[in-house]
Amino acid sequence: MIRSQLYQIDIVSDEHLLGLKCIFGPTALHALDLVDQRSVTHVTSPSGRSTFQVTGSSGKVYTCYKTCHFCSCPAFSFSVLRRNDSLMCKHILAVYLSQAMRCCQDLSVSDKQMSEILLAKED
Ligand SMILES: [Zn+2]
Repeated sequence: MIRSQLYQIDIVSDEHLLGLKCIFGPTALHALDLVDQRSVTHVTSPSGRSTFQVTGSSGKVYTCYKTCHFCSCPAFSFSVLRRNDSLMCKHILAVYLSQAMRCCQDLSVSDKQMSEILLAKED
């Protein structure tokens, strides 16, 4: 049986959606929106480094480091690091969900481009 690309994406059950909403609150819905819009890109370079870039709802691109659980967005600094009232921002949750649902985009870049991504300073 031939499966089209569309069916490669795993469907999230109602039970899982309720669980996500229960644990993450409104962040879960915002993260699922990002996943729906294919906003998550897994970026890799020849040196073996990898990171994720998530295009936020405003169009701004944030870099997410899954291995150390960090996002470059202001919400992560404020709600997760400073106030400690959230487990993660919508971008990191979108990274996890897009991988679980197998709808993450892949992008290969040069080592120089990866350095620029990793060293980028936020405005
Ligand atoms: Zn974020």
